[in-house]
Parts: sequence; structure tokens; C-alpha cells
Amino acid sequence: MGKALIIGAGGVASVVVHKCCEVPDVFEEICIASRTKSKCDALKDKLDGGRTKIQTAQVDADNVPELVALINEFKPDIVINVALPYQDLTIMDACLETNVDYLDTANYEPLDTAKFEYKWQWAYKEKFEQAGITALLGSGFDPGVTGVFSAYALKHYFDEIHTIDIVDANAGDHGYPFATNFNPEINIREITANGRYYENGEFIETEPLEVKRVYDLPEIGPKDVYLLYHEELESLAKNITGVNKIRFWMTFSEKYLMHLRVLENVGMTSIEPIEFEGQQIVPLQFLKAVLPDPASLGPRTKGKTNIGCIYQGTKDGEPKTYYVYNICDHQECYREVGSQAISYTTGVPAMIGAMMMLTGKWKKPGVFNIEEFDPDPFMDALNKYGLPWHEDFNPTLID
Ligand code: NDP
Repeated sequence: MGKALIIGAGGVASVVVHKCCEVPDVFEEICIASRTKSKCDALKDKLDGGRTKIQTAQVDADNVPELVALINEFKPDIVINVALPYQDLTIMDACLETNVDYLDTANYEPLDTAKFEYKWQWAYKEKFEQAGITALLGSGFDPGVTGVFSAYALKHYFDEIHTIDIVDANAGDHGYPFATNFNPEINIREITANGRYYENGEFIETEPLEVKRVYDLPEIGPKDVYLLYHEELESLAKNITGVNKIRFWMTFSEKYLMHLRVLENVGMTSIEPIEFEGQQIVPLQFLKAVLPDPASLGPRTKGKTNIGCIYQGTKDGEPKTYYVYNICDHQECYREVGSQAISYTTGVPAMIGAMMMLTGKWKKPGVFNIEEFDPDPFMDALNKYGLPWHEDFNPTLID
């Protein structure tokens, strides 16, 4: 049916490639292209021999002419961007120049500021409309499945949704006293930033990790959950009409936070360069170098993730509540695709989003967040391709 150019060869890309090869009728040919070609070749070696034809290429995704040349050579029907958020705009520019559909899993971030905002990518809307091509933004889990869950809840169970609580729990244990599940620099920057939530038309700031609750999650049990800002709050506030409160909660153990506090107190999380033995070093980058590599955690991580959304609203004039969530087992993911659940829960929805576009189910000119499309075929595909979901019509609410 189609050809996909996959940019990036990291944790998420590895899952995307595994999953595309599971659906050769849709993904007839893929090209894995990244900065380090040997990583693309290693993925090809693992998966070659099936019905999906695989090729690899070296590309610097910060460089539009290089991207354009690669797209013109491979002639994909879609570009799946699973490199880093810094490359979103250059890849969108290359798609515009070559008239090819675009998909990503995280919003654009300028290199020099940790800003989680859609404004740069939403500004491409008219250009994509004029070119007659589709850009699907945020097709991971959160953002991604959380938006699909929201569209599904609104379509099937509510006349109006008033409150959304997104709860992202990771009860995985890698056996180290302290390690981060993804890039430590990005992870620590996100957690040490101010929290923010949406209420009555505006965003309200909190101190970092100031707001804490305990939530009893199915198959995981009671966990401390902390209020953080997350990018889908911005698009859901815009696209889920009538919603007046949206919050995002993430679990952290006391042990994790204790280590983080100590590291902060001694200055190890600082991004200000310091002089050390005649050299300038950034403490946080040095910390990253001494912490375990997130990619090495896969084989040793045991336990489950549970990510879902709790809704409150009305149906036929009556109050209604609904909770929809997915549970993912780190070791089962590792057995299936050689990655832990964090990469798995992002890579599977990226493949499904691309499948929706290639099969023509989700196709309209412009730049869209995921909740703007019909959620039903995506929800079916989640059950089929490894992320089954569960429903609870009487959930405990978060006060
Ligand atoms: P990794 O760091 O494991 O992989 C990133 C890949 O991008 C690497 O292969 C890297 O190449 C490549 N890359 C970086 N810069 C360039 C460049 N200039 N040109 C070409 N390739 C480049 O990250 P993950 O796989 O964990 O994450 C991928 C994306 O998924 C990120 O955008 C992340 O924010 C997003 N994500 C989304 C989630 C969601 O639920 N929505 C959850 C988790 C992640 P090299 O090997 O040379 O370094």
C-alpha cells in the first residue's frame, strides 16, 4: 500500500520499525534514516527478510536540503518523525517542499529553551492546507493515545466533558537506586520545571511538584502522583469543546525524588557551565554521563505502566464519569521488541497513526492534533497491535 520514511533510530524508532514490519500490507517499504547510519543498519539486520522491504540512509534532520534530497530519492508517502523535538520544523519544511504527509510524537522545542508549545507547528496550518498534505502532531501515548481517548469519550459517552485528569504511572523497577527512563537531561528539566494546569480558560502555575495526590491505579496499586505540565493540555483545551479543567499527573517514588533533591541541592542539576580542571562543563550533562544509559534499562526493568484518562461531564443532562486506560508490562515489551514499555507505548501509536494516514482513514489537508480525527479505527488498532485498553464507568476521582 505505501512507503514510509522513518527518521530517527533510537528507542521509539526501534519499536516503530518492528511494528511497521508486522503490517506489510500497509508498510510495503520503509527507509530508516538517522544521524548515525550504523544504528539504522542494526535495526535493518534485526528485521530484514520479511515482506516489508527495508533500506537505510544517513541524514542530518536539521538540514532541509539533505532531507529533501532523501525524500526525492526514496519517494515516501509519509515521513514518520521519531528523531528529537528539535527537528520537527525542518522535517515539516522538507515535507512541504516535496508534498509528503508528516507525523511526529512530540511538539517542537527550540534548542535553547525548554518550551512546550504548539504555536510553531500550528503556524504551518495554512501552508499544509495549500499543499494538500496532512501533518499529524503528537501520535505517541501522551501526547497521542490520551487525545484519542478524549475524542472517543466525547464521541461515545458524553454530551459535554468538563474535566480531564491524565494519569501516567510507571511502576517499573530497574533495580538501580537512581536512573531515568529516558534522556536524563530532558527528564530532569521537565520535573524541575514549574507545574501548570488548565482551568476556566487559563493556565495556572504551581511550584515544581507542589501538588501531590495518592491514586490507586488498576494492576499497579496506590501511587503518589504529582501535577506536571504536559503539551497535550494545550491542544485538548482548544479541541475538546466545553472542557473547563485539565490536569496531568505523573508518578514518582519517594526514593527517586530524594535522589533528585540531593542532586539539586549540591548543584548537579544545574545547566550553567562551570570551570573544572581547565575545562567548561555543564553539571547536568556530566550527571547524564555518569547515570545509567536509559537504553540499558530494558532488559532489567520489571513491572507495569498504566496510562489513562479520567473524565467527568454530562450525558443526557445527567452527571457521568469514565476512566479509560492501558496497562503495559515492561518485560513483555522487551520480549516482543527488545524495548521497555516507555518506548513501546510511544512507538505503537506512531505506527498506528501512520497506518491511519496511509490507509486514507485520516487524511485531510492541514496540521492537526490527534483528537481532531475519528478515534474509532485508532482505538480498534490499539487492541490489535499491543496496547489494549480498559474502561471503568465508576472510577475514583482525583479531588
Ligand atoms: P532517542 O534519543 O532514543 O532517539 C532519537 C534518535 O534521533 C536517535 O537515533 C538520534 O540519532 C536521532 N537524531 C537526533 N538528532 C538527529 C538529527 N539532527 N538528524 C537525524 N537524526 C537525529 O529518543 P527516543 O526514541 O526515546 O524518542 C524519540 C521521540 O519520541 C522524541 O521526540 C521524544 O520526545 C518522543 N517521545 C514521545 C512520547 C509520547 O508519548 N508522545 C514518549 C517518549 C518519547 P543518534 O543515534 O545519532 O543520536
